[in-house]
Amino acid sequence: MQPQVRSRRLGGAELRTHVPDVTVFGDNGLRIVKIGPMGPFDNNAYIVRDVAAGASLLVDMPLDETPLLDAIAAEGGVQTIIATHWHPDHWASYDAVRRATQAPVLVGDKEIKIPKDRVDGRLEDGREVRVGSARITVLHTPGHTLGSISLRTGRAVISGDTLFDGGPGRTFARGDLETILASIEAKLLPLPAETVVLPGHGANTTIGESRHGFDAYRLEPKAAGYFGDVEWPASNEGRVG
Ligand SMILES: [Zn+2]
Repeated sequence: MQPQVRSRRLGGAELRTHVPDVTVFGDNGLRIVKIGPMGPFDNNAYIVRDVAAGASLLVDMPLDETPLLDAIAAEGGVQTIIATHWHPDHWASYDAVRRATQAPVLVGDKEIKIPKDRVDGRLEDGREVRVGSARITVLHTPGHTLGSISLRTGRAVISGDTLFDGGPGRTFARGDLETILASIEAKLLPLPAETVVLPGHGANTTIGESRHGFDAYRLEPKAAGYFGDVEWPASNEGRVG
């Protein structure tokens, strides 16, 4: 039934690729569909689905609209939408996605600069959101924005722009780099090493790889007060999870 082109192992998890821009991560009846990278900023969106229950949750609403709406239609049952943070590249398809799903949009309870009529609910740290019988745990991971959240489900964590393959997300003001590193250290790195990190942009990584990168960074940290783009000093390129 599953149109699978190839499969490979990543961090102990099975990944199946149907078409170049859609990856399905299967985890005991839970299905996570990665749509991306797409749009001008290589954004990823994710659909988390309890297959038996026919219930789905969408994470982020980036460009491109067409593959995103196609994936929403193909999976079906999107009952909830969560934005990992309120930057335009993560809600650029807001209107089209709302029209297609009629689903409520939820964001972290600390997030700012959101028009009130765009958000239907707020998620505090530790909150569990249900998708069918599956549970998704909200982790408040500030730094990229004040209210950025990551979403843990099964053996994966959807990390928004908090943690990428190769480093933390971009920071925009003095102090924010320390904040995002503290979020990564306190909330993400304690997850099991084999946990697959599904970021808001670019390729996947694992918690184990991220621990190596984080440790290498701690030996060669940026000067206090630095903000902007940071890469872990030890490149993960060429490493296989
Ligand atoms: Zn982004």
